[in-house]
Amino acid sequence: MNNFSPHMLKTFKECPRKYYYKYIEKISPPQKSTPFEKGKKIHALANYYLRGEDITKFEKILTHDENALWNKLKSNEYFQKTYVNSEYTLTCKIGDFWAGGRIDALMKDGNRHYILDYKTGSVPENPETDYQTMVYLLAVSEFLKNNNLTFVYIDLKNSLNHKIEFNEEQKNQYTNELIKICTQITDEKIFPENHKRCQFCEYNKFCYSSSAAG
Ligand code: SF4
Repeated sequence: MNNFSPHMLKTFKECPRKYYYKYIEKISPPQKSTPFEKGKKIHALANYYLRGEDITKFEKILTHDENALWNKLKSNEYFQKTYVNSEYTLTCKIGDFWAGGRIDALMKDGNRHYILDYKTGSVPENPETDYQTMVYLLAVSEFLKNNNLTFVYIDLKNSLNHKIEFNEEQKNQYTNELIKICTQITDEKIFPENHKRCQFCEYNKFCYSSSAAG
């Protein structure tokens, strides 16, 4: 049975055909650039730092921009809470499905836990209903066996924190929402021919030629 990641769910929501190419056919179109390099470096550095490793050498090779982002993260109030774990993979059962992902960091303050997600790019448009928020909150609450949880998107570019407090009502809402999309994915038979995001889709050339051929 599939273990759905937030990225898989977002891709399906965006376009079922894209989901099919990416996760069923496993087609990877060539990428023009590596826009996530900066984010990857900050995430790796944060993980070493939180695990108590010596990061002096790594800090020295950061670019000016990377250094500015790293200093913002280091001084962030949530990043300074008590460390529990980082780069932590968790999964949970939701209805008949499994979903999970890798959490940037799990921190603690008193009896409240904080799931941190560092963003060097943009924060989701609607953080409360983003699949990443839903999956991570459900997975961590299942793991901890309580709802005393806050999800924090740390927006490093704009120096903002987007907080989502978890509660029983949200737990039910997220569970229903995730069961709905996972059921759609497993039932989906019809893929759209066109979609408003086609122009920017990395599969567009492949998709149009496949449609024309079919
Ligand atoms: S080109 Fe359009 S229809 Fe094809 S996979 Fe991309 S978004 Fe979907």
